[in-house]
Amino acid sequence: MCELCCGSHVVPVRIGAIIEFYDCPNCGPMPEEKFQKMMDELEKKIKEAEKKFYAEVR
Ligand SMILES: [Zn+2]
Repeated sequence: MCELCCGSHVVPVRIGAIIEFYDCPNCGPMPEEKFQKMMDELEKKIKEAEKKFYAEVR
């Protein structure tokens, strides 16, 4: 696996207090398919977190 991006195709670069994300110079930009999948999973995680949050509040 790539040491720079750990297979994520994205490399975080810290500039002062800001962290920017760049395409991995070794692996190239993330394929559209993978990006979409990542966003789907992120959305799922957010929805699960919301469910948990509301369950705790009620
Ligand atoms: Zn890489």
